[in-house]
Amino acid sequence: MRRLLLVGPGHAHLFVLEALARAPLPGVETVLVSLGARQLYSGMVPGWIAGDYALEQLCLELAGLARAAGARLEPSGAQALDAARREVRLGDGRVLGYDVASFDIGSLPAGDELPGVKEHALVLKPLEQALAVLSESLRQPGPLLVVGGGAAGVELALCLQARTGRLITLLDSDAEVPRGAPPTARRLVRRLLARRGVALRTGAALVSLAPGAARLESGDCLPFTTCVWATGARPPPLFAGSGAALDARGYLAVEDTLRSPSHPELFAAGDCAGFIRGQRVPKAGVYAVRQGPVLSANLRAALTGQGTLRPYRAQSGFLSLLNAGDGKAVAAWKGLAFHGRAVWRLKDFIDRRFMARFQRLAGQQPGSR
Ligand SMILES: Cc1cc2nc3c(=O)[nH]c(=O)nc-3n(C[C@H](O)[C@H](O)[C@H](O)COP(=O)(O)OP(=O)(O)OC[C@H]3O[C@@H](n4cnc5c(N)ncnc54)[C@H](O)[C@@H]3O)c2cc1C
Repeated sequence: MRRLLLVGPGHAHLFVLEALARAPLPGVETVLVSLGARQLYSGMVPGWIAGDYALEQLCLELAGLARAAGARLEPSGAQALDAARREVRLGDGRVLGYDVASFDIGSLPAGDELPGVKEHALVLKPLEQALAVLSESLRQPGPLLVVGGGAAGVELALCLQARTGRLITLLDSDAEVPRGAPPTARRLVRRLLARRGVALRTGAALVSLAPGAARLESGDCLPFTTCVWATGARPPPLFAGSGAALDARGYLAVEDTLRSPSHPELFAAGDCAGFIRGQRVPKAGVYAVRQGPVLSANLRAALTGQGTLRPYRAQSGFLSLLNAGDGKAVAAWKGLAFHGRAVWRLKDFIDRRFMARFQRLAGQQPGSR
């Protein structure tokens, strides 16, 4: 019996599990390693904050998904990888060997090593714990601070404003918000934030957090009762010291086939994969989703020794949809940007369809509004 270890129930691994449910691999034992019993879908988190969705609508029950795929679930998480020995140490101390292992464990928010951040900010990963704490903090009065002006930070600020009506500041060290968006989308988002009373502080680097106060490089102090940390990505610590090749930032290095250049039995997809052949692959769920079918085919080829590995080619851009929390959403596509109810309905449709596909596989009742 050969063993396939799927570490992390991220977007790409959902497609691998779906393919295994449809066409099991004889002679292969599949183990899914997760941090807990559920996977929460980040794309619907802002909508949950705004009150568009109940928490169950964001949840995939991993026991059901594993069962459908004929896999065993290990929910204590992976703590270490020893690529030379082909072993993964689990959170409960057990060590699992593998013939082929694939990692889809996401990334961590950058900058959480700044003084006071781990103690005083609500860091959004792991999502399950973060949302439980957020539910509590939303009941307290006082100003909210969102750190990170990427698409997620903007959505969170707008949805928190819609939910709480409280004073909100969105802070980013960069001058552009949302970071990386085209100028039309940036102008539209700035106008929207201003109209909704969200104070935008750009080009403002945070140096430390103390209880209730954020200190900026300029010497200014921003008061808060809740600080939501939604910055860009940094690599999970698991790969350092694993012996596997890493990219320049510390993500698990992969060829375009999603396979490690140093250990052919190792694969990675989603945020935790570092592409080393010059492809630009942003850390976003939409890219992880497109890697799913390629990963699935390549894991099969690696396990059976049949067929050649397919390359993954990142799409040149994507339709970015931001929930504005007021029953409307912002769409940014190439140089264009729109804001309206129809855009929200489109985002809602896409997100629900994605969730329904995997909730059905897990034997869950797809959530209704
Ligand atoms: C609020 C918010 C909204 C977002 N909205 C969007 C959006 O609309 N569109 C978009 O494209 N991107 C969005 N993103 C970014 C998106 O969440 C990530 O890029 C995406 O989730 C990465 O997918 P992934 O498959 O790499 O990993 P993830 O979806 O992060 O899944 C990784 C899984 O692995 C688990 N895991 C982590 N460590 C371990 C371990 N050691 N052992 C076992 N399991 C582990 C995690 O708990 C998680 O279940 C959003 C992010 C946030 C925070």
